[in-house]
Amino acid sequence: MRKRHGPSFKKAVTELGECPLCRGRAVIQGVFHELPCDHCNASGFVVAATGEALALDELVTQLSMRLRAALRQIEQLKNPQASGPEVTYQGSNQRGAGRANYTGD
Ligand SMILES: [Zn+2]
Repeated sequence: MRKRHGPSFKKAVTELGECPLCRGRAVIQGVFHELPCDHCNASGFVVAATGEALALDELVTQLSMRLRAALRQIEQLKNPQASGPEVTYQGSNQRGAGRANYTGD
């Protein structure tokens, strides 16, 4: 019987779901104030497949990967043309010069 040593080296993205207890808010309403949700390690996320909390070290990695993906998306939304600055400049320059756009009539 071979003993397995910890998780594999390659980090896989775990599908995360909203914590059913705090509904993704990471806190629950206590009697007087909000308390950290202990069902999801106060992250608001659980493993989508099992509905259970991730271990803290795994949670940090998964949140980091999600954050990076989200930041990439934000950058892409800021630059929807996904083109270099020159193309953007040329485009606005054409409009600014008031160049007529003949359609070949
Ligand atoms: Zn929770």
